[in-house]
Amino acid sequence: MDEFSLIGAYFKRAISPSKTPQIDVGVGDDAAVFRVADGHQCVVSSDLLIEGRHFFADVAPFTLGHKSLAVNLSDLAAMGAQPLGFTLSIGLPRVDTAWLGEFSKGLFALADAFDCPLIGGDTTRSDNIVINITIFGQVPTGQAIFRNGAQVGDDVWVTGSLGDAAYALNLMQNMPAHSDLEKVRARLEMPTPRVALGCALREAGLARSMLDVSDGLAGDLLHILRASNVSARMECDALPLSSVLSQLPVGQAWQYAVAGGDDYELCFTAPASTEVRAALFDLAQKFTIPITRVGTITPMNQVAQIVWHSARAPEVAQQLARSTGFNHFASR
Ligand code: ADP
Ligand code: MG
Repeated sequence: MDEFSLIGAYFKRAISPSKTPQIDVGVGDDAAVFRVADGHQCVVSSDLLIEGRHFFADVAPFTLGHKSLAVNLSDLAAMGAQPLGFTLSIGLPRVDTAWLGEFSKGLFALADAFDCPLIGGDTTRSDNIVINITIFGQVPTGQAIFRNGAQVGDDVWVTGSLGDAAYALNLMQNMPAHSDLEKVRARLEMPTPRVALGCALREAGLARSMLDVSDGLAGDLLHILRASNVSARMECDALPLSSVLSQLPVGQAWQYAVAGGDDYELCFTAPASTEVRAALFDLAQKFTIPITRVGTITPMNQVAQIVWHSARAPEVAQQLARSTGFNHFASR
C-alpha cells in the first residue's frame, strides 16, 4: 500500500459542513483551509508522541489514537478554547492495516465527540512509531486563560481526581496482574479532556489562571506560580482521589496525585469569594465533573514555591515535600 492509498483508507474522511462549517478544505489538497469566527483568536498546540518514550509499542492502537488527540484537546481546554480541527503527522515502521484501522477508529471517535475534524498531516516511514498532532482552536479575542493570572488569595482548584494514571502506569510496569489495574487503566490510556468545562470557565470569567495537569500537580502548578510570581499552600487532605486510590496508604496515594502524570485534569485559580465558589460548583454540577479546592495562592517569598500541608498526616506531607524535590513543608 502506498502513502496515498494509506491516507485515503485511514485518514481521509468526508468533512460534515453542518457539524464543522469552519472547515473549507480538509485532507487532499496542498494545505487545509479553515475559518476562525469573527472576534476570535486562533489557539494552536502541538504534541509529539514517540514509541518507547510516551507509549509502549504494544499499547492497544485504539487507545493510542484516542490519547494522541486527547492530550491536544486538553491543551485547548486549558486555554478555554474551543476546538476547530487538527493535523496528524505520523511515522510508521510498516503498513499494519489492523493497527491503522484501530488507531484511526480511536482517533476519529474522539474527533467526532468534539466536532474537531482531521484536516491534514503528513505520513512517512520511520524506525519507530512517531505521532505528532497539531490542534487549532479559537477563543474570543482577549479571553484566553493563561498561566500568569494567579493572584494572592486565589483558591487553587482541580477538576476530577488525580493520580489514577500514574498508579496505572506503575502497575503496568511492576504488577501487571494486580486487580486494581483494570480499574485505573482507562485513566492512563483514555483520558477525558475537559474541554466543555474549560470553555465554560472562560465564558463565566471565573478562572484567573489555568493549565492542564499532564506532568503531575506539583510540577504543573509551579508553572502557574512562576508565571504569576506567587507561591501556594496546598492541603494534602483535600486532594481529590478516586475510590481506588483512596484504598492505598495515604503517602502512596498523595505521591501519585501530586508527582504522577497523565491526569489531564484542569488546575485553575479563582477569587476566593463565596459567590465565585458557588458559581464554580454550579458549573461543575452542570458538566458533572467534580471540582475540588486544594489550596490557596500566597505571596512569593524570593522564589515561587509550594507548601504542602496536612492536618491528618503531617509527617506524610513532609515526606511528600521532600520527595517532590522542589517543595516545602508547613508544620502549621
Ligand atoms: P504534500 O506532498 O503536499 O506534503 P502529502 O502527499 O504529504 O502532501 O499529503 C497529501 C494530503 O494528505 C495532504 O492534504 C495532507 O495534508 C494529507 N495527509 C497526509 N498525511 C496525513 C495524515 N496522516 N492524516 C491526515 N492527512 C494527511
Ligand atoms: Mg507530505
